[in-house]
Amino acid sequence: MKRIHPNIPADGRFEPRVPLILPHDEGFMRLALELAREAAAEGEVPVGAVIAERTAGEYRVIASARNTRELEKTASGHAELRAIDEACRVRGDWRLTDCTLYVTLEPCSMCAGAVLNAHLPRVVYGAKDARAGAFGSVVNLAAYPLGFTPEVVPGVLADECSALMRGFFSSLREKRK
Ligand SMILES: [Zn+2]
Repeated sequence: MKRIHPNIPADGRFEPRVPLILPHDEGFMRLALELAREAAAEGEVPVGAVIAERTAGEYRVIASARNTRELEKTASGHAELRAIDEACRVRGDWRLTDCTLYVTLEPCSMCAGAVLNAHLPRVVYGAKDARAGAFGSVVNLAAYPLGFTPEVVPGVLADECSALMRGFFSSLREKRK
């Protein structure tokens, strides 16, 4: 296999460096989990996202969203995209400097692309997505020379986040029987 870039393994995947989990990360991920549960209750794939901004050493939530793909009948109704749009509105800037995105599921390529375009410096996610994850599972967009490199922290409250996904899809299968 041909190498795309010297820093990227030939298969496009990479093992992230040991990520630095900060003390407040779990608290913000719990908020994202609440939103994911709300999504599940509405029949949406349970994904929730929160964006926290750091100002003067303090972290505060400036945007939060859940998956609304079914509600809005749109392919772009992912929690991360909606949270990024809201955060940009709140800040009046497309650059989300000093922000962290918390999301219960590993972002897809569309949402990982939005992270790069918003210059979002840090992404914390819960469950890995073996089918569509674009921050380490299928591909890792953070490892490509795309002009911006976020720090990606996987696996925060991963068990709870994946249990929620598993529960949602198994109840969906039950309903279809
Ligand atoms: Zn997405």
